[in-house]
Amino acid sequence: MIPLSKPYIDQKEIDAVVEVLRSSTLSLGPKTEQFEKEFASLTGSKYGVAVNSGTSGLHLAIRALGIGPGDEVITTPFSFIASSNCILFENATPVFVDAEDQTFGMDPDLVEAKITEKTKAILPVHVFGNPSRMTRVMELAEKYDLKVIEDACESPLATHFGKTIGTLGDVSVFGFYPNKQMTTGEGGMVLTDNEEIYKLVLSMRNQGRGDSMQWLSFDRLGYNYRISELTAALGVIQTAKLPEIIERRSAAAKMYMSYLSDIPEVTLPKTLENTKHSWFVFSIRVKSEWRDEILKELNAKGIQSKAYFYPCIHLQTYYMESFGYKKGDFPVAEKLSNEMIILPLFTEITEEQIKTVTDNLKEIIHKLR
Ligand SMILES: *Cc1c(COP(=O)(O)O)cnc(C)c1O
Repeated sequence: MIPLSKPYIDQKEIDAVVEVLRSSTLSLGPKTEQFEKEFASLTGSKYGVAVNSGTSGLHLAIRALGIGPGDEVITTPFSFIASSNCILFENATPVFVDAEDQTFGMDPDLVEAKITEKTKAILPVHVFGNPSRMTRVMELAEKYDLKVIEDACESPLATHFGKTIGTLGDVSVFGFYPNKQMTTGEGGMVLTDNEEIYKLVLSMRNQGRGDSMQWLSFDRLGYNYRISELTAALGVIQTAKLPEIIERRSAAAKMYMSYLSDIPEVTLPKTLENTKHSWFVFSIRVKSEWRDEILKELNAKGIQSKAYFYPCIHLQTYYMESFGYKKGDFPVAEKLSNEMIILPLFTEITEEQIKTVTDNLKEIIHKLR
């Protein structure tokens, strides 16, 4: 069996968790602060707040920017559902623009037409570790005085014109679920250079406690989005490994590219010039009529693979029922969603495993021809 993803965990993580267990400080302690400092510094951000999931982080980012009922946030339907749900949590409205074929992220050229008096923010998602066209997004944000929330959950250490993804917008969010490049089991991180946003996120993570963090004094509505010290200890080790993790995944992606370069029916992912991909998954595109058959056969051979983001967010039941979306509303996102297959990619994947995957894929496609 070749799994789709696999955490890169060794004795270091095990020792770190055991050390926390022996310390008797199991929450709000030194490991959380260390994790925040080290992740923020690796990414090049001033402040980090560790939270219990990427979704919680996105929710706090929306709240910290004061986005609420009646406000609109421009985002993409080709994403994991949390990037849009976080807007609904605050009774604001996600306004979708279609994805683009190259980066799989939002098409920035479609954003301007969707800006209204109610628009408060743009929320681009760096899909699969490939940076969205942020230069254009930031230009529009400046022109119309909009905030930018980067959903960087799939893109730690990706870069765009020399800048690290997650440092371009006002606030950014990372996720550490086990299928992500680095993992803490469950967990996330909010990054910002803005002290005010930082203080709000820090407070709202912990029930809305005030600056003095007095035990029973609450300044605002807050949540319990804290992480435990065990989780943070994993985060410290995984953060230190992150550059190696990204390097190894890039090498694996390169191998996939070369083994698959001679199959005309397979469209390989592209990375725009001046950007560095951080390879959350390795995705290929095939004719939509072939996709399910290919998935069925790969999985039957023990090669775990999946359709990804299928269906698109606007075609999820809740969104269709609440907003009346239907097929055809965002044709590029839907095409991507109908054609996309993700193949096994994890830090320790070997060339032999990649060869097994690509040999089998070639055989399946040969039969379908
Ligand atoms: C993983 C992910 C999240 C956050 O997921 P959690 O499971 O809440 O950590 C958010 N957005 C995108 C695009 C993701 O891939």
